[in-house]
Amino acid sequence: EEIVIEAFVSRYIDTFKIKYPDFKLYYKVSGAHTFYTDPVLLGSVFQNLIENAYKYSHPQKRELRINIVHEKRNIVFSFIDRGIGIPREELNNIFKKFYRIENQYNQNGSVGLGLAFCKELVNFMDGEITVQSKVNEGSEFRVTLPYEN
Ligand code: ATP
Ligand code: MG
Repeated sequence: EEIVIEAFVSRYIDTFKIKYPDFKLYYKVSGAHTFYTDPVLLGSVFQNLIENAYKYSHPQKRELRINIVHEKRNIVFSFIDRGIGIPREELNNIFKKFYRIENQYNQNGSVGLGLAFCKELVNFMDGEITVQSKVNEGSEFRVTLPYEN
C-alpha cells in the first residue's frame, strides 16, 4: 500500500509525544514523498525502536531524531538517540530473541523480543537493520528498505 511518508512518521511522533511528554522527538524527510510498503509491519518497527530510544535514555536526555532519506533504490530510516548506548561487544547480541542487557533501565515487562521482532519484520520486507552506538553518547538504528514505486 502506498503511504505518504511525512504523514506516516508524524502520526507515530504525535502518539509518542502524548504518551511521553518529556520525550523530544524530531523528524526529517528528504527525497521521497511516498513509499510503497506494509504500514502495519513498518509501524511495528517504528513502535519498537521509538520505545527503546525512550527506555534506554537518561531521564534528562530523552531525545530521538528520525531521518528518512531516499537514496537510489533504497529508503533509509535512521533512529538516532542520545541514550545510554550499547557496548561494542553487545551489538551483535541485541537482535537475538530474549536477549537483554542488564542495566538500571530494564523495566518490568521487557522481555528482550523487540529488536528480534524488528529484525524478522525488516528481513521479511527484504530490508536490513543495523546499529551503531557509543556508550554514554547514544545509538543509531538504521532500517534500509528497498524503494519500490
Ligand atoms: P522488549 O522490547 O521485548 O520490551 P527489550 O527492550 O529489553 O524488551 P529489545 O528491544 O530487543 O528488548 O532490546 C534488547 C536490548 O538492547 C535491551 O535490553 C537494551 O539493553 C538494548 N537496547 C535496545 N535499544 C537500545 C537503545 N536505543 N539504546 C540503548 N540500548 C538499547
Ligand atoms: Mg525493546
